[in-house]
Amino acid sequence: MQNEDINMQDQLPLVVGVDLGGTQIRTAVLRGPTLLSRVSLLTGANPSPDRILPRIYTAIQEVLDKAGATLEQVAGIGIAAPGPLVYLTISTGIGGGVIMDGKILEGANGSAGELGHMTIDWHGERCNCGNIGCLESIASGTNIARKANEAIHAGEGIELLTFARTMLEHSSTVPDPSALPTQGHDANTVELRSSIFAGRDELNEDSQRGSVQEEEHLHVNARTVALAAEAGVPLARAIIQNAAEAIGVGLVNIIHCFNPEIIILGGGVTQMGPMLMEPAQRVVQERAMKFPRESVRIVQAQLGHNVGLIGAGALIYYHKNIKIKI
Ligand SMILES: [Zn+2]
Repeated sequence: MQNEDINMQDQLPLVVGVDLGGTQIRTAVLRGPTLLSRVSLLTGANPSPDRILPRIYTAIQEVLDKAGATLEQVAGIGIAAPGPLVYLTISTGIGGGVIMDGKILEGANGSAGELGHMTIDWHGERCNCGNIGCLESIASGTNIARKANEAIHAGEGIELLTFARTMLEHSSTVPDPSALPTQGHDANTVELRSSIFAGRDELNEDSQRGSVQEEEHLHVNARTVALAAEAGVPLARAIIQNAAEAIGVGLVNIIHCFNPEIIILGGGVTQMGPMLMEPAQRVVQERAMKFPRESVRIVQAQLGHNVGLIGAGALIYYHKNIKIKI
């Protein structure tokens, strides 16, 4: 039986998966769920179709070269992108998808399952999508960072700023090679170094590292907020707690709408683990209706960083009615 699976796996056509993220454009050549090669390039600041499309093309060409394959040999290119594809605003947001009876729920024009844009707080803040109080506008990495930076600029984040500054000092040493992605572009190093403070202002040529002027312009990112929360910085803890509860409310809505067997959570923010998941699960236990709550499993994605790539590749098999085992 196992040999049969392996043989079937060998016969699967090659596909290319593209995972278009707010930080990186990742591409992979896949056979089923197996990655044969992988390349990542930085998405870059001020993403627009004119700037992004050539980079996607380059990343696809590089990943094919790396796998020793040509475009003619692949059955298709699947793209996992944030937001509906007419709309190339790229941010580290919250995306979703609903699989019902084995089929992807697409809706009238393919935009169903915008789970990140369900309203959580109808008196809340304006989201990039135009709606108010979306889950994404509260709990995405971008917005976790935004809330932290707003607090810092309002003078409420001294402890968080001190924590972040200490991290920056440590990061100025040579990065741990084991922390670097095993494949990819040199630009990954830049990403790691800038991952503590990320924001357009840090690219300001006038700013000098360590100066008072620069501190006024520094932006902390969600990862730093999470690390600070873990270290017990109260502001960071409150921001993460708020995001976690919003995710919990979102899960309750999903449970009530779809009565799902399983909800799979992925993405960098969910890698915060129990600090995020425990308050979210608590909200589900307190608020969701008993019957659908008791039948749902809420789990974290097992495919790690490759989930977008494997999902994008799987889209091609899905549309060709080829079943793969993951
Ligand atoms: Zn929205």
